[in-house]
Amino acid sequence: MKIETFSSFKDANLHSKKEWFFSDTFIFYMRFIIPFLSLLIFFDIYNSILNIKKLKAIILIAIIFITYIFSDLLTAIIHCCYIDNSFSKKEYTVQDGHIIIDTKVGYASCHHIFPSNWKDISDITILTSGLSFFFIPILLIYFCIRNSIIKLLFYFTILFLIFAPIIHKYSHEKLHKRYVPFFIDVLLEYDIFLSPTKHQKHHIENNYNWAFLNGISDTIFNYFIDNLCYYFKKCPTEESVKNVKKFVQENNNDNIVNIKFIGDIEGVIKCKLYDNLIIKPI
Ligand SMILES: [Zn+2]
Ligand SMILES: [Zn+2]
Repeated sequence: MKIETFSSFKDANLHSKKEWFFSDTFIFYMRFIIPFLSLLIFFDIYNSILNIKKLKAIILIAIIFITYIFSDLLTAIIHCCYIDNSFSKKEYTVQDGHIIIDTKVGYASCHHIFPSNWKDISDITILTSGLSFFFIPILLIYFCIRNSIIKLLFYFTILFLIFAPIIHKYSHEKLHKRYVPFFIDVLLEYDIFLSPTKHQKHHIENNYNWAFLNGISDTIFNYFIDNLCYYFKKCPTEESVKNVKKFVQENNNDNIVNIKFIGDIEGVIKCKLYDNLIIKPI
């Protein structure tokens, strides 16, 4: 049987009222402020590195390595608990045979139904949104933290977290052999950041392997969630997939599911449940 997943909202002729979680107007104005914030970060990072007197190179490599792993683990926790809502008990409303999904994060909504949806969000919006989100923490680090090593630990963690959605976006783009900027392509090619085939596993299973900076923390985080599932019967399932499965089980309607999007995106799609995947009904 030929199976075909959806690509992005725009490819399905659905359009969002905003690109990501901030309004487009807010992002437009923040674009004038963000260059100054970026200068402030890089100036402070440069000064903090200069302030390390002994074993500068070793300390710097250690800071980058620690924050690289820690940020990856944070992406796994955020992805599992707050993006896929893996432990949510939320039941979607069904109206006139349609499952209703409220979209709140623009084109980033319903990533497990539209796995290539990040291609509809520009890199500049991702970076501006990330830096806007961390605007106040960055100012607090700049003005309140005196210790150079602690400053660098915070800055690198934040920078990796801002960079992670871009890596995730291009991991999907590379998998489908679409355009990837040269610098990111090299990082993905040598598995320094998220391997496209490794991340594909997360989408096919709709579960586990949540980390999306490089996936290095997956083993430990998967092990933790596995034990939580085994001993406490709290097992993860991506929220939309769980609801579509439940709908199919209760309605027994040849696996065909109508989904109505409300909120940022308004429109209807017809899809089909195939194992754990939500695919086009062909
Ligand atoms: Zn996911
Ligand atoms: Zn993905």
